Amino acid sequence: MDTLCVPAQAQTLAQASELLRQGQVVAFPTETVYGLGANALDEAAVRAIFAAKERPADNPLIVHVAERSQLKGLCEVTEAAEKLMDAFWPGPLTMLLKKTEKIPAVTTAGLPSVAVRCPNHPVALALLKACGLPIAAPSANRSGRPSPTTARHVYEDMTGRIPLILDGGPCRVGVESTVADLTGPVPCVLRPGAVTAEDIAAIVGDCTVAESVMRPLKEGEAAPSPGMRHRHYAPKAKMTVYIGGDRAVARAICTRYDEAENAVILTHTSAMPLYGDRRVFDLGDTPEEGAHLLFQRLREMDEKGCELILAQGWKAEGKALAVMNRMARAAAFDLVQV
Ligand code: AMP
Ligand code: MG
Repeated sequence: MDTLCVPAQAQTLAQASELLRQGQVVAFPTETVYGLGANALDEAAVRAIFAAKERPADNPLIVHVAERSQLKGLCEVTEAAEKLMDAFWPGPLTMLLKKTEKIPAVTTAGLPSVAVRCPNHPVALALLKACGLPIAAPSANRSGRPSPTTARHVYEDMTGRIPLILDGGPCRVGVESTVADLTGPVPCVLRPGAVTAEDIAAIVGDCTVAESVMRPLKEGEAAPSPGMRHRHYAPKAKMTVYIGGDRAVARAICTRYDEAENAVILTHTSAMPLYGDRRVFDLGDTPEEGAHLLFQRLREMDEKGCELILAQGWKAEGKALAVMNRMARAAAFDLVQV
C-alpha cells in the first residue's frame, strides 16, 4: 500500500473523512500526539488499527468525538464527567466511562468501560466533524516505539501500512492525554498528562493517582490500565534518569558518560554548559517543554545509534508527572536521585 503524507487542508481533510467512512485507517494530528484513527463502531476498521500498529489486542483504544453529544448511546456520562468536560474539553483529558453494547469489544479490548476524549486541535476537530463518526485512535506509532509528535515520525512507522497521513505540524503538548477513570466514586488518574490530578480535583473535589504511574508493576499485580503492562516509549538505547540539582546531576552524569563507550546526554537547556564538549541533547527548561520535546529526542538519539542515554528529569509531581512517567518508562524505571 502507498502511504500519502499531505498537508491538512480542505481537500485532503475531505479525502481523509471519506477514507474513514469507508472503514479505512488515517493518521491525523492532535494537540497531544498524532493519532491513528478509524471508525470506533466498525469492528473490521478497528482491527485494521491494531494490525497497522502491531498492537496487542488486550490494549484498548481511546474513542475521539467532535462534541459530547456524539457520546449519546455509547457510554454513561456521569455528573462528574460532565463537569470535567465543561472544564477541560476540548483538551488532553481522556475519561473512562461505562460503555454500552454499541461499542464493539475490540475497541475496548473486552473491557466494560470505554475511554473517550475530545481533542483540542483544529485538524482533528475538523476531521471528526466532517466524518461524523466516533473515531478510535491510539498513538500513530508502531507498538513499543515512542509516540509520534510530527507527521514525519508517523511516516517512519506507518509507511506501507495506511493510505493517508494528514500533516498538521508538530504537536503542542507532545505526550499522550491524561487518562482518568471515572467509573468509581473518586476519579483516578491511570496515565498522567497535561491535565493534572490537581486540575481534576479542583473541579470535582478529589482525585487520586494510580500508584503504578511511577513504578514498575509487581509480579502478578493487576494493571489498573492495560497500557501499563506493556513496555512503552522504549528507545533502543539503555537509559538512566537523574533527578536533583543541576550541578549534582551533571557530576553524576559526566562520571558515567566518561566511563561509557557510546553515551549521550539529555538535559535541561540551562544546564547544557555544565557538560563541556560532550554529546548533549536539549530537553528544554520546564516540564512542559520536556514533554513537548521528549519523544522527538528519543527518536533522534535512536537514529544516531546511541547505546546509553543519561537524562536529567524533574521531581515526579504536579505538571512534571506526565513527562516523568514517560521518561521513567523509557528508562525501564532506572531512576537515580542525586
Ligand atoms: P494510546 O491510545 O496509545 O494513547 O493508549 C490508550 C491507553 O488508554 C491504553 O494503553 C490504556 O492504558 C488506556 N485505556 C483505554 N481504554 C481503557 C479502558 N477501557 N480501561 C482502562 N484503560 C484504558
Ligand atoms: Mg500509544
